[in-house]
Amino acid sequence: MTTCHVVFLPFIAYGHMIPMADMAVLFASRGVKTTIITTPSTAHRFTKSIQKTINYTHQIELHIIEFKAGEAGLPPVSDNPDQVDSDELLSRLFQALPTLQEPFEQFIEKSQPNCIISDMFFPWTTESAAKFSIPRIVFNGTGFFAMCVSQEVMRLHKLNASSDSEPFVVSNIPHEIKLTRKQLPQLESEEFKVFLKVIIQAVEAEAKSYGLNVNSFYELEPEYVRHYREVIKRKAWHIGPVSICNKNVDDKLERGKKSSIYEPECLKWLDSKPPNSVIYRRFGSLVKVTSSQLYEIALALEASNVNFIWVIKNDQETTIPEGFEARMAAKGNGLIIKGWAPQVLILDHESVGGFMTHCGWNSVLEGVCSGVVMVAWPIMADQFYNAKLVTDVLQTGVSIGDGEWSPISMCDGVKQEAIERAVATVMGADEGMRMRAQKLKEKAKTAVEESGSSYSDLTTFIEDIKVFKSEVNEKKVAVADNL
Ligand code: UDP
Repeated sequence: MTTCHVVFLPFIAYGHMIPMADMAVLFASRGVKTTIITTPSTAHRFTKSIQKTINYTHQIELHIIEFKAGEAGLPPVSDNPDQVDSDELLSRLFQALPTLQEPFEQFIEKSQPNCIISDMFFPWTTESAAKFSIPRIVFNGTGFFAMCVSQEVMRLHKLNASSDSEPFVVSNIPHEIKLTRKQLPQLESEEFKVFLKVIIQAVEAEAKSYGLNVNSFYELEPEYVRHYREVIKRKAWHIGPVSICNKNVDDKLERGKKSSIYEPECLKWLDSKPPNSVIYRRFGSLVKVTSSQLYEIALALEASNVNFIWVIKNDQETTIPEGFEARMAAKGNGLIIKGWAPQVLILDHESVGGFMTHCGWNSVLEGVCSGVVMVAWPIMADQFYNAKLVTDVLQTGVSIGDGEWSPISMCDGVKQEAIERAVATVMGADEGMRMRAQKLKEKAKTAVEESGSSYSDLTTFIEDIKVFKSEVNEKKVAVADNL
């Protein structure tokens, strides 16, 4: 039997790289030979994933290609996500990414894999795939609901709303979803310019691709899986939630980068709290929070009198109100993590019952897998759509309020009272909401178990790409015979 070989090309943003690394582990667990293509300075971020496949038939392999922005006459730029923190650097990074195409294609030509699973931010892999008659599968990091809603919003030339803050109904989708114009991507904004070009190329490349691997599961958004396949008519396989492949403490501890808190200290603190009594607040890897917003959050958490874990970036320490940390430490109800949190480890702890989230798709799924109820506080990207899924479709969370899409991923403007209200609602969540969250947690677990919906869809996918390759080979033989 020939081995099925899948090549992954991840993009360096944490929200894309972490799930793709988990996907590679998942494929390896199914006997597929997997190669992650990466650059010298990013390679170490996959070490943990490789370790997770140590007992499988094929361990994940890394193939390292040089990132030669300088040699291509482009301004120098790092491919370390922690260093790409301005529009200027992001623009340089996107300019430099196509320099990977040549070494990438050299590897593909030599290894002739069954398929390329490419991040959406490498649109040129469409050409590479066509050149070698290999299917290009896109990974765009979001779910079916967001894909369906955004597709519909893009299609609507004129939104039926008289002002930016008047809600309009998104037509032609399975639920009545209301959004406002100010919650949609601000495509004309100056700050979004760099990104807009990249997004357009990504969307065009996605339409030309063989299909998508989606980090989701059928039972989470069944109407939207069907809508995507039957109405939008694209091939897509739901293979998630991929974070469930992290089973033990060690796996959960280091995803993306090293945790900033000593694990026993974190677990000891969590162990000391009653079930469902802690709210965890973290806005993913990209969101920036203004000083005034941090201040409001601190006031709200203190006044709410709940147990909480609050993750802040290292450079934000000074904006916490004077004496706040000391008071929380004395009371014992607050844990502040400065830097990177072991998010899945925290969410999976039984004392955590609430999650204040920016609704990045990975965070939403990780919250679903842990059965927590959520305060949905979207800021940009697909987050407003994901928030609607949580609050209006799944009904496992509440909205922080009437926010506005920020082209620079800046969180600002929500007052203490609104935060307090949302915290009180989720931490005192009615039985219905908590039960719905618990049921989804069980369904997520079942989906990835043998014969579960995601397990089966992954089987279908693997069969599909195997057949694709054998048909291509047959055609090659037929052409050669006719020569
Ligand atoms: N994450 C983490 N620790 C942190 C912050 C983020 O482990 O302190 C992980 C989180 O579990 C998720 C990913 O980083 O897997 C962030 O992805 P998401 O889609 O939620 O948000 P983004 O960073 O893309 O906005």
